[in-house]
Amino acid sequence: MKLVSFREGARLRAGRIGAAGEILPFAGCDMQQLIEARAGGADWPATEPPLAAAAVQLLAPLPRPRRNVFCVGLNYRSHAAELAARGFNGARSADDLIPPAPVVFSKVPESVVGPGAAIEIPAVSSAVDYEAELAVVIGRGGRNIAAADALAHVFGYTIVNDVTARDLQKRHQQWLLGKGCDTFCPMGPCIVTADALDGANARIRLWVNGELRQDGNSNDLVFGIPAIIESISAALTLQPGDVIATGTPAGVAMGFSPPPWLKAGDVVKVEIDGIGVLENPVTR
Ligand code: MG
Repeated sequence: MKLVSFREGARLRAGRIGAAGEILPFAGCDMQQLIEARAGGADWPATEPPLAAAAVQLLAPLPRPRRNVFCVGLNYRSHAAELAARGFNGARSADDLIPPAPVVFSKVPESVVGPGAAIEIPAVSSAVDYEAELAVVIGRGGRNIAAADALAHVFGYTIVNDVTARDLQKRHQQWLLGKGCDTFCPMGPCIVTADALDGANARIRLWVNGELRQDGNSNDLVFGIPAIIESISAALTLQPGDVIATGTPAGVAMGFSPPPWLKAGDVVKVEIDGIGVLENPVTR
């Protein structure tokens, strides 16, 4: 099942996509409320009469997550190799960058934007990069979730573009500012429920202005989704509606010489097979 968020007047709503692409709004809940209800064992809510897809402007499936979006850095061997080739953090080989435990950072909830919304290059940066990522949406929360049990806590999957100001990421050492600029977390176009996608084998591609830059598969993750959930929940309680972006494969701008940083007028398109397409223009 594919689930979307949209606005009807001032009201935030959730719905599912029907067989002909129409949107069937759920009665009486937005996406966060839907996830919490399902985590509590509720049935799927009733749906109201369908809306034509063309009549609806999709938002990020969780337009304003309740807390920071968790992210995992350096989680594809191919990405570590391209960064090592550019001397990232003084590395000489991918092995210097492959971390012994997941590198977890976060993006503030206010950085989230939906399909079609602009990625705004801030005045303070001249090195804005893209990162196509498979993201996990947590259903039932929990602390100390064992890897073997982790997938039972996954509500579904979506796409996140982990947009990054490389100059800020480097200048401030901690990644919060470089990763958390306003508009730096495009998310969408939908959440695919966990039963409908194999998160351990999902093809991920990204294009800039139609040029293919990234083409990876989540089967190359250094730390797979169960290990990520185990690591995060060993420290803090995961909650329904938490989003975890799992890392990006090779092909980021930083891996090129010279790097083709994003510029105003560019269009960035991310596709994950089985989820859909997330496309965002770039402005300054
Ligand atoms: Mg990333």
